[in-house]
Amino acid sequence: MLDLSRERNRMVDVHISRRGIHDREILHAMREVPREAFVEPGFEEFAYEDGPLPIADGQTISQPYIVAFMIEMAGLEPGDHVLEVGTGSGYAAAVMSRIVDRVYTIERHPGLAETARQRFKKLGYGNIEVRTGDGTKGWPEAAPFDAILVAAGAPGAPLALQEQLDVGGRLVIPIGDEPNEQRLLKVVRTGAATYSEEDFGGVRFVPLIGEQGWPERSNFAQ
Ligand code: SAM
Repeated sequence: MLDLSRERNRMVDVHISRRGIHDREILHAMREVPREAFVEPGFEEFAYEDGPLPIADGQTISQPYIVAFMIEMAGLEPGDHVLEVGTGSGYAAAVMSRIVDRVYTIERHPGLAETARQRFKKLGYGNIEVRTGDGTKGWPEAAPFDAILVAAGAPGAPLALQEQLDVGGRLVIPIGDEPNEQRLLKVVRTGAATYSEEDFGGVRFVPLIGEQGWPERSNFAQ
């Protein structure tokens, strides 16, 4: 297999660390997870450029900096149970799995979910559970979660996800009135029925499609 560890370390130094992500656990995890194993065949040489790349089913593997930024926003701790909505390639779940106790990740496209499952198995990442389905409904059997990260843009914070946060839990989610343009929000469950909200700036994610997301349509502007 191609050894891209030098490129990986350079990417972490230049695009993650120098841009302000200083959490040692995040930097360590990103030096460990081979992003080239999560891109489509033929795209390996671009794995350490700091940008999104196309994957199957018209979806994307997120930009590494955004992955690091969202993980930092979520304030992950080693013992945490984390839910990710939007497995995609599996890269972000893999990075989180190196930091926390257990990662649950949901993907609506069965083919992407299966490919991610196979990647985790091959890399020996045994603390990630993958499910195919509508992640806007969360994963009730595994709740409550210390953190929930949503990797697709929603019209609002799904109620099911807010309810599946533990008290003190953090929901990181891109929200916007347009399917492809959002603000990155951090919603913290401060009490049984109280939540605080903080805005971390503009982002562009593929749409979150589901019961508590956008309706399925084929004419989203990409
Ligand atoms: N975290 C991914 C990675 O590291 O490769 C990137 C995710 S990609 C930007 C967003 C993903 O969210 C897509 O794979 C898309 O199919 C998925 N998605 C959209 N709506 C969803 C839903 N309701 N439930 C689960 N997955 C959803």
